[in-house]
Amino acid sequence: MFNFSAGPAALPLEVLERARAELIDWNGSGMSVMEVSHRGKAFTELAEQTEARLRALLAIPGDYRVLFMQGGATGQFAAVPLNLAAPGARTEYLNTGVWSAKAIEEARRLGVSVRVAADESASRYTTVPSREALRFDPGAAYVHYTPNETIGGVEFPYVPDSGTVPLVADMSSTLLSRPIEVGRFGLIYAGAQKNIGPAGLCLVIVREELLGRARADVPAILDYTRLAAHGSMLNTPPTFAWYVAGLVFEWIEAGGGLAAMAARNRAKADLLYGAIDTSGLYRNPVERTCRSWMNVPFTLERPGLEKHFLSEAAAEGLTHLEGHRSVGGLRASLYNAVPLAAVEALVGFMREFERRHG
Ligand code: PMP
Repeated sequence: MFNFSAGPAALPLEVLERARAELIDWNGSGMSVMEVSHRGKAFTELAEQTEARLRALLAIPGDYRVLFMQGGATGQFAAVPLNLAAPGARTEYLNTGVWSAKAIEEARRLGVSVRVAADESASRYTTVPSREALRFDPGAAYVHYTPNETIGGVEFPYVPDSGTVPLVADMSSTLLSRPIEVGRFGLIYAGAQKNIGPAGLCLVIVREELLGRARADVPAILDYTRLAAHGSMLNTPPTFAWYVAGLVFEWIEAGGGLAAMAARNRAKADLLYGAIDTSGLYRNPVERTCRSWMNVPFTLERPGLEKHFLSEAAAEGLTHLEGHRSVGGLRASLYNAVPLAAVEALVGFMREFERRHG
């Protein structure tokens, strides 16, 4: 099977095989990693190694803390304003799609003052603002944006310059797909279920100087400062997801690190966009300069064919190609664990389908 799911998404086969092999005897314990205390030496060592691996992969500077949180990226839509916007603070958000809109909605629900510094809804979320057009309030507590919109398939080809205002990025669908310069960001967060591991874990990478700014009413479980002080173990963490994320980090390392992931991901995306653009049947609506490497939405020029496309694709072992339920159409997600061979098979199927139905 080739799985193009947007998340929970395909995991590397080698990772699944290793987890299977270790399932009933992890680390010589005679039991699985799911059954040992998160406070015991074996698990705390695993937690430390996992963080060290992530730090090496992303070259995370020493003045950043890494938190392994729960509640998904949606939890961070609340945690970010609760931790970074003191009462009365002003914040800035860029709206480039469904996920940024949800982040804005949650911040406002918590009574935080939000200015939408750029709004791409008029293009039906097929564009990002131009770098030059962005102006931020220098007194804002932070600027929040979504580098890759998983549903719209639109991605920033640049990192916005927020000056001295901390830049907060929801990297749920892009973290670990390529190298990034962590030092450009005040805070990065990402739900795990795409390039990182199983659902249930959410990574937060935060510059130390941003700790200690939380609102007094922040729930303990969302409080970055407390989590940082307790090694992300204020309560029982999702230990199995944490373990699998560590295996994924090892797999990325062994595969040449993030530069190698980036080269592969670029080639996969180019192959699929090339096939779409040279066909008469398929169409991707996103402006070319900001097309996502990770999530490729497309439609069929002849209505009514999508159902056939999906069922014939599934029969060829190509699964999870339906678009998000809010927008319909089709979508192929091309995260790290999706091999080039999967995209070659998809493109071959698309050409054959067009020959028969186009
Ligand atoms: N942000 C982005 C960019 C996403 O893709 C998603 C999930 N697809 C979310 C936020 C929400 O993540 P979660 O389900 O982990 O809360």
